[in-house]
Amino acid sequence: MREPTEILIVGAGLVGTSLALALDAAGRKAVLLEASPPVSAAPAAVPADDNDRNLVLGRASVNALRALQVWPLLEAAAGTIRRVEISRAGEFGRVRLSAADAGVDTLGRVVPGRVLAAALESRLAACRNVQRVAPAKLVALMQTESGWRARIATAEGERDIDARLVVGADGSASQVRAQVGIGAQEHDYAQSLFVCTVACERDLPDCAFERFTDEGPVALLPLPNGRRGLVLTVSADRHDEVVAMDDAAFVALAQQRSGWKLGALSRPGKRHAHRIRRVLADALTAPHAVLIGNAAQTVHPIGAQGFNLGLRDALTLAEMIAAADDPGAAALLREYAKRRQPDRDGVLAFSHGLISLACLSQPALAPLRSLALHALDRVPPLRRAIARRGMGFRGTPPEAVLETGP
Ligand SMILES: Cc1cc2nc3c(=O)[nH]c(=O)nc-3n(C[C@H](O)[C@H](O)[C@H](O)COP(=O)(O)OP(=O)(O)OC[C@H]3O[C@@H](n4cnc5c(N)ncnc54)[C@H](O)[C@@H]3O)c2cc1C
Repeated sequence: MREPTEILIVGAGLVGTSLALALDAAGRKAVLLEASPPVSAAPAAVPADDNDRNLVLGRASVNALRALQVWPLLEAAAGTIRRVEISRAGEFGRVRLSAADAGVDTLGRVVPGRVLAAALESRLAACRNVQRVAPAKLVALMQTESGWRARIATAEGERDIDARLVVGADGSASQVRAQVGIGAQEHDYAQSLFVCTVACERDLPDCAFERFTDEGPVALLPLPNGRRGLVLTVSADRHDEVVAMDDAAFVALAQQRSGWKLGALSRPGKRHAHRIRRVLADALTAPHAVLIGNAAQTVHPIGAQGFNLGLRDALTLAEMIAAADDPGAAALLREYAKRRQPDRDGVLAFSHGLISLACLSQPALAPLRSLALHALDRVPPLRRAIARRGMGFRGTPPEAVLETGP
């Protein structure tokens, strides 16, 4: 059986689903393919302390989720960031960014990943123009005269879908990327990231902390229930040791790495571990195909940029194909790649540069690094520029991320 569609989105993760919502709002028909069964739209089923990740959403992403009518569904679960403090263990320099300096009321918000997924899922259920096919796995792509023929495997067997544009939103190990012939460069950070929530003795409301150490960064993110999202990086050779730690040993490690700014840490929730690597596609497009989100670039999570960047990929693409006759036209895809390049390059330089510089352990660098952080902290226009980029306003942003209110 062969079905025609204009746009086939492979992957209904956070980014693919966001694209589907934006296309639906623009009245464009699309098929959204997902290998896993649909997630529950009722996050209450998962205990609040079992977060596989807490996502920092820059202000631009919050604006976008508002435009997609997703934000009201998750606002109650979101922490607020009005200040960010970045420091390095054992060194005097630090940078403090504030919403007030940047002339806004918030720099960003923090939401549990599963709450965001459930909110997107519940909006998807109301879409009229997007057909979701799940669980269904992309098996192969064959080029046709006007696009691609996708062979998909479902519980009922295999079938084909013809599309004028195939969007690879299928994550770091993208099958679409491989099938359309785009290579990728991988870099192993040799680090593991442990994520959980913790209670803190002292409350510094609406402030996010990021502290760099020789072994990698650690962050404490504000959540609404008085708890904090902990993100702790350890070198990969300690992965198994940290997985095996009991709560007391894990909290002691987190305390030693994050310092005492928030007093004693306690009561850790369920711990989730992630091995960290960067994957960069050699190109964003191929004939009648485009990569977005982690399929296009998987960046180090500590910069809190992966979803934010992927959302801007999705919204830029939706904006450009909203009124296009052929969503897979070569000129459109060329223009898309050109428009996304500065944002992508900026985020990659920021995320990778931050990790490389902040984690270098050479003692000789310490005074220089401290001076640089100290100097940065003293120059308001520089702080403002960093805050603006951190909020997600880079390059030529899609309209949906721009401020609408006063
Ligand atoms: C610990 C951690 C913390 C993070 N914190 C932040 C943060 O604070 N802020 C931020 O912006 N980002 C953060 N990120 C990054 C962010 O989570 C990712 O960038 C984002 O979730 C990527 O979404 P995606 O939809 O592109 O890819 P994925 O989530 O990987 O989704 C891909 C989807 O495609 C499906 N799929 C794959 N292959 C096929 C196939 N052949 N057929 C059909 N379907 C297929 C998969 O099942 C999956 O659902 C963090 C990441 C980690 C690991």
